[in-house]
Amino acid sequence: MQLRFAYADTGEEYVRAKGWQRATLERCPLHPQGGCRFARHGTYARVSPPGTLITRYYCPQGHCTFSLLPDCLAARLSGTLTEVEAVVRAGERARSREAACGALRLDIELPGALRWLGRRLAAVHAALVVLKGLLPERFGGCTPTLSAFGERLGVAEVLVALRGMAEVFLARLAKPLGFAPRRLPGSARSSGRQHPVGADPPGRPA
Ligand SMILES: [Zn+2]
Repeated sequence: MQLRFAYADTGEEYVRAKGWQRATLERCPLHPQGGCRFARHGTYARVSPPGTLITRYYCPQGHCTFSLLPDCLAARLSGTLTEVEAVVRAGERARSREAACGALRLDIELPGALRWLGRRLAAVHAALVVLKGLLPERFGGCTPTLSAFGERLGVAEVLVALRGMAEVFLARLAKPLGFAPRRLPGSARSSGRQHPVGADPPGRPA
């Protein structure tokens, strides 16, 4: 299970300062009363940014591992939320997705680049739609795009800001913003999707 580690700095700074060493959980989320031998359970590595480690805890009674994901990192996707935000904003700005891909991904063929971009746009925009419903006083009347949310909030980095602002909803929001398990929220819609995306097993971010 992924949990939020409130972390204000960038992914590069997280690596430089070994931010995972500051990630702590006071008590077991499953057994706040204690007695389950809940304890720190090492770290696992992520590919990007290079050198990234994530602190883990384990509850033997609940057979559950908890990963403390810092706000700077995308959930169940390689890299940082800043990188995801840059891609999605480029997709929003571009006159077409093909044009955006031409600027973003010349290393792969266009069909693959379109799927790569489309997955990020769809995932982020779907999360923004859900958040509009969950926080109508904040985002009512706002187009579910990063540019519109950014204007509303007055911030340049919407996704990182939303980790804190929407903390209580993260378990219900899809990756790469939220920590929802693959099939929970909107499962009726997502169960038929064609491209199963990997979870985030230790050391092998999707
Ligand atoms: Zn426990």
